Amino acid sequence: NVLGVNHSEAKPQLQSDKDPKNAIKVTREEILASRKSLPAYRVRSQLLQVIRDNQVVVVIGETGSGKTTQLGQFLYEDGFCDDGFMVGCTQPRRVAAMSVAARVAMEMDVQLGDKVGYSIRFEDKTSPATKIKFMTDGILLRETLLDKMLDKYSCIIIDEAHERTLNTDVLLGIFKELLSRRRDLKLIITSATMNANKFSQFFGDAPQFTIPGRTFPVEIIYTRHPVSDYVESAVTQAAKIHLSTPISSGDILIFMTGQEDIEATCSGLREKLLDVYTKKNSHNDNNEPNDIEIIPIYSSLPADVQNKIFMLMNGKRKVVVATNIAETSLTVDGVKYVIDCGYAKLKVYNPQIGLDSLRITPISFASANQRSGRAGRTGPGVAYRLYTEDSAYEDMYLETIPEIQRTNLSNTLLLLKSFGVDDVMKFPFIDPPPRKTIMTSLFELWTIGALDNLGFLTKLGTLMASFPLQPSLSKILLISAQSGCSEEILTIVAMLSVPQVFYRPKERKEESDQARSRFFVPESDHLTLLNVYSQWKANAYSFHWCRRNFLQYKSLQRAHDIRRQLSRVMVKKNIPILSSGSDWDTVRKCICSGYAQQAAKLSGLSKYVHLKTGMELQLHPTSALFGAGDLPPYIVYHELLLTSKEYINVVTSVDPFWLVEYGILFYNVKRRVEETDEFDVDQPSHGIKDKLDLQIDACNTRKKDVL
Ligand code: ADP
Ligand code: MG
Repeated sequence: NVLGVNHSEAKPQLQSDKDPKNAIKVTREEILASRKSLPAYRVRSQLLQVIRDNQVVVVIGETGSGKTTQLGQFLYEDGFCDDGFMVGCTQPRRVAAMSVAARVAMEMDVQLGDKVGYSIRFEDKTSPATKIKFMTDGILLRETLLDKMLDKYSCIIIDEAHERTLNTDVLLGIFKELLSRRRDLKLIITSATMNANKFSQFFGDAPQFTIPGRTFPVEIIYTRHPVSDYVESAVTQAAKIHLSTPISSGDILIFMTGQEDIEATCSGLREKLLDVYTKKNSHNDNNEPNDIEIIPIYSSLPADVQNKIFMLMNGKRKVVVATNIAETSLTVDGVKYVIDCGYAKLKVYNPQIGLDSLRITPISFASANQRSGRAGRTGPGVAYRLYTEDSAYEDMYLETIPEIQRTNLSNTLLLLKSFGVDDVMKFPFIDPPPRKTIMTSLFELWTIGALDNLGFLTKLGTLMASFPLQPSLSKILLISAQSGCSEEILTIVAMLSVPQVFYRPKERKEESDQARSRFFVPESDHLTLLNVYSQWKANAYSFHWCRRNFLQYKSLQRAHDIRRQLSRVMVKKNIPILSSGSDWDTVRKCICSGYAQQAAKLSGLSKYVHLKTGMELQLHPTSALFGAGDLPPYIVYHELLLTSKEYINVVTSVDPFWLVEYGILFYNVKRRVEETDEFDVDQPSHGIKDKLDLQIDACNTRKKDVL
C-alpha cells in the first residue's frame, strides 16, 4: 500500500501502485481519511438506517461518490456479514468487478480473494472466508440457478443498474419474486441520476436515497462541422490540449468505442506528439514527450494494465483512452478534459431476420452527458464533443435503449427456462423485450434442440444451460462428445472465449502476419485456433515460443485455464472427452452443428451471402480461408461485426449436406410444421407459428440454394 502525490491537487491520494521508487507506506488513518472524504461516507449512518428499515433501497449518487467501494464496507461494518452471511455486489463489467474488489481489499487491508473477492466468468477469486463478493451480473444470475434462495447472502447490491444490461434486467425480475420468499434479504439498487424512478416503481415504490454530491460546471464544445474520422479528431484535440495547457490543469479522458480505435488513438497521439517535439527546437516549452502517460482501457486488457488508470503520475499528464467503462463504472480522478467521439459499440439484434451483431452506434444524449460529467468532478472542466450540436439534438436518442430490447435472448431464455420459468412471457421484465424477439429466440432454441415442441427444455437444453457459454458453443461441445472430437472442440471453444490470440504490433505488421499465416488451416479459422493451441501445447506452453510466433501469451494461458474449467463441467456431467486425432472433417462437421443458422454461400469471387437472409457479408481480412486460393462455396461463421462493412469473423468451410443435416430449417420442414401445432408458449401460439411459416418459406427456397 503506497501513497503517491497527486500533481493536480495537494491532497494526498491512495493508489495501488507497487512501484517501489516512490512508494511510501500509507497508514490506516490515511486510508480512513480518504474514505471519510467521500460523499457516501458523510451520509453513512442515515444510509444504513434506511437500509435497515426497508427491504429494497435505490441509492442514487454521482459517479465517484463512493457507492461501489463504500456500500459493501458499510454493510460489513454494520454486521451484515455476521452469522456466515455475505454481501454480494454485481457489476455490469468484468473489469469493474476486478478493479473495485482490489480497491476494497486494499482499503480493508486484506488479501484480495480472502475477505474481499471477486468472481467473473471463468475466474473465481473468492474463498470460504469471503464476506464481500464483487461479481458480474451474469455470475449472480448463474448463482441463482444453483441456489434459488441465494441463502448465502444477507444483502445484494445491484450496482450500476442504470446501465440496464441484459443480466441486470433479468436479475431485477428474479428479485421481484425472490424478495417475497426471503423477507430477510436486502436489495440495494444503485444508479446514476437517470432512471432511478423506474427502479423504485418496479419494486413497489421503494425509497430512494440520494447521496448529496457536488459537481462542477462543464463547458461543452461541439464541432462546427461533422468529423469524418473521430480517431484523428480526438488525437488532434488531445494534442492541442496537452500542448496549450499546463499539465497541472488536469488529465484528459477520451471516449472511444473499442480496442481497435482505442489502440489507434493511443498510437496516433504518441506519434503526433513525438512529431511536434522533434520538429520544434527543444527549448522554451514546458511539455516534453515523456510528460504524458497514455493509458488504454478496454475489457480484454489484463487487470494490471487497467490498474494504471488509478496510478498517480508524478508530474505527468494522464491521457486515458477508454470505452464506455469510464462513463460510470470506473472513476478516474483528476480529469479536466473529456473528448467524446459520440459512438459506442452496441449489440444489435434484428429479430425480423434473426441476426445478432456488434455495431458502432451513436450514443444517447444521456450517455453524452454522463461522459461530459467526468470532466467536472474535481473542478470546472471542458468536454469536447466530436459531433455537431445539431446531430446531438437530432440524431441521438434521449436514453440508451436497454440491452434487453436490442439483443438476441436465446441465452437468457435458456437460463430462465432452466431456472423454472416456463412461461417467459409472464416474467416480470422491468422493460419487456419485444414479443417478436422472444418468439425468434424461442424458435432458435427449438431449432438447435434445446426446447421441445411444447417449449420445455430438452435434455440437451438442460445440459447446454450448465455451461457458461452461448448456446451455439455449448451445443457444439455436447455434439462433439457424441461424434468423438470433444478434445478438439473443447480447445476451440476455449480459444473463442478469450481476447485476440494473435499479436499484431503496428511496426511489425508484415512479420506478424507472416507468423500468423504459418498457423493457417485453410478450411477453417476455428481449426486455425486449434492448431495454434496444439502447437503451443507441443512446445510445453512456452512463453518464448509465443513471443517468437507473435502470439499473446496471456490470452493462450487464459484459454488453457478456461479449457480446464470447461472440461471439469464435462466430467461432472459425465460427458466423455474424446479425440478424433487428425480427422479434422469430424471437427468441422461438429462446428457446423452449432452454427447451422449462421451459414453463408459464396457469391462471386470473394463475397458471401447469408443463407437465411440474403445479406451480403465480407470475410474478415485476417481469415485463414484467404490462405487457400479459392474460397470455399459454403461456410459458417462465429460472429458478425458491423462497421463500415459487414464482416464475418472466425469462419469454417462446411459441406452443404451438413447444413441440411443440422439446419433443421432446411431439413424435413413439412414434418416440423405439423408438430408445431402443439408448440405452446403459454400465450396464444400463433406468434411462433407465424414465425415457423415464415422460416419455411425461406427454407423451401433456400433448400434449393443449398443443394
Ligand atoms: P461510485 O461507485 O459512486 O461511482 P466509487 O466507489 O467507484 O464511486 O469511487 C470512489 C472513489 O474511489 C473515487 O474517487 C475513485 O477514483 C476511487 N477509486 C476507486 N477505485 C480505485 C482504485 N482501484 N484505485 C484508486 N482509487 C480508486
Ligand atoms: Mg460505482
